[in-house]
Amino acid sequence: MTVQEAAQPTLEGAAVLLGAGESLLDPALLRARALTRNGAAIDDHQVVTERVAYAATELRAARELLSFARSIAAEGRGADHETAAVAAISDLVASLRARLESVALELGLDDAVFEQAFPAALRAQLRAATRESHVRAIGRATIEKRGRTEPPLDETLEQVRASVREFAEKEVLPHAEHIHRHDEDIPESFIETMGKLGYFGLSIPEQYGGHELGNLAMVLTTEELSRASLAAAGSLITRPEILTKALLQGGSEAQKQHWLPRLASGEVMVGVSVTEPDVGSDVAAVKCRAVRGTQAGRPGWLIQGPKAWCTFAGRANVLALLARTDPDPAAGAKGLSLFIVPKLPAGGHGFEQQQPGGGRLVGKADATPGYRGMHSFTLNFENWFVPAENLVGEDGGLGKGFYLQMGGFAAGRLQTGGRGCGLAQAALEETSKYVAGRTQFGRPIADYQLTQYTLGRMALRLFQARAITYAAALAMDQDERAAAPLAAQAKLLACDIAVEVTQQGQLMHGGWGYAEEYPISRYVVDASVLPIFEGVKPILELKVIGRALLAG
Ligand SMILES: Cc1cc2nc3c(=O)[nH]c(=O)nc-3n(C[C@H](O)[C@H](O)[C@H](O)COP(=O)(O)OP(=O)(O)OC[C@H]3O[C@@H](n4cnc5c(N)ncnc54)[C@H](O)[C@@H]3O)c2cc1C
Repeated sequence: MTVQEAAQPTLEGAAVLLGAGESLLDPALLRARALTRNGAAIDDHQVVTERVAYAATELRAARELLSFARSIAAEGRGADHETAAVAAISDLVASLRARLESVALELGLDDAVFEQAFPAALRAQLRAATRESHVRAIGRATIEKRGRTEPPLDETLEQVRASVREFAEKEVLPHAEHIHRHDEDIPESFIETMGKLGYFGLSIPEQYGGHELGNLAMVLTTEELSRASLAAAGSLITRPEILTKALLQGGSEAQKQHWLPRLASGEVMVGVSVTEPDVGSDVAAVKCRAVRGTQAGRPGWLIQGPKAWCTFAGRANVLALLARTDPDPAAGAKGLSLFIVPKLPAGGHGFEQQQPGGGRLVGKADATPGYRGMHSFTLNFENWFVPAENLVGEDGGLGKGFYLQMGGFAAGRLQTGGRGCGLAQAALEETSKYVAGRTQFGRPIADYQLTQYTLGRMALRLFQARAITYAAALAMDQDERAAAPLAAQAKLLACDIAVEVTQQGQLMHGGWGYAEEYPISRYVVDASVLPIFEGVKPILELKVIGRALLAG
């Protein structure tokens, strides 16, 4: 295809722009590898690494968008999605180009490299594909559809999406505001029904009582639940997902048979306990100790020390807890093991429990502006007994906790990508409705160009988030280990987009966007936690995505 042919805003034109993005990213990656000695010296070049990691994430999202748009175009579906896909791909390419330009000096990329990748004709094409009138047209279509711009899926997945939406709208949505404003506990009926509907077992193999519908079904379920409420439903399947993946990777056969059916049915509700008051991103530095001990002659482990930010630790009846089993701090990550710690479920914002042998566990919820309902607890363990068979991997799992936890986090990150998409979808729908109904200066604000442009960008950004998240889900079905960096990229982009889209939606609501009465204010505070947990954004960029990209 010639540059002239590519000047049309078509999928093939977008493919040419994607190729240009690739031909800029490739030398940037080569230079970044040399600069960081294949990732060994990332800390000496953090900003460069961050820019390259983000640019690579944008390129990956653009590639996935193109392949998705081509596949639905080939089936003769989704002509309107094609227009949005072209604009969304071009937007990602424009962004990565500007991002790499900002570290061109450090990377030693001179004007000739930029000129070669993006000659004048391609720069003109990029400007044409991202022109504001296109984005406004997408915004108008979005407002007309009241934000319902979900991409088409195959029949089974459409059914999954529709049935979860029905449950979420009927059961979750009517309670979402109340739970948020009063920071109430999640109703038991949600957990019971979700268990019966199989939502906790979507990625558990059938032989262990799950439904094995795959990671994309899990993401769609998450998305629909999060569209109704991130905190009261959309995040309920994060923790079971994390423990499931850790058990599938490193659990003994007896452990899989015991725990997985209980996780699938919702009988077992999990809290994940990794973070400590002094230990966050540097997971290998976890200090909470597990020492061998007994209770009434039963062999096991005694957990000692504080933990922080353990979401759902009150209601949970087990905690997936990372503890130091090798007292030598020099053992680092190799001194950590993963335990399934039983406790009694407790409601409210605080609890204290005793064991017959003297063990004590105290939990107190930390108040937060959003993400309410599950409550996130600071915990203190005093000689809390855990039976020997609850060490994941049993004796063979000693010292493997860090790696199992990281495998679990990859699943959690994918699921969090789905949470971001669901929240952004909710914001897009609420905002589309609002701007259509609000009149200022004698006209609905939806008639104003800038409103249409903003809605258009919100829709494009959501399209980008979905493309990379769905691709990560399918890749995780093939090879979880190999797909872990892609799951991190999906989490990174989808969570940033959720923050951006909810904030833009709030702005479009004017003062009412700041009122609790309008759900957009809840979406904003809920979204703001997404780039923080499951690996805070800079750590994902540097230590997960950057490391994977720059390794020799
Ligand atoms: C609402 C909520 C729920 C949570 N739920 C859970 C849960 O259920 N279970 C659980 O275990 N944890 C949970 N967390 C904890 C969360 O995972 C951590 O907050 C997160 O991992 C970051 O750790 P930290 O807060 O200690 O920040 P820190 O690690 O102290 O980081 C602070 C800042 O410094 C930056 N930074 C740190 N190291 C570097 C470096 N080497 N280079 C550059 N920048 C760096 C970080 O990127 C970050 O911006 C939750 C947190 C919140 C807010």
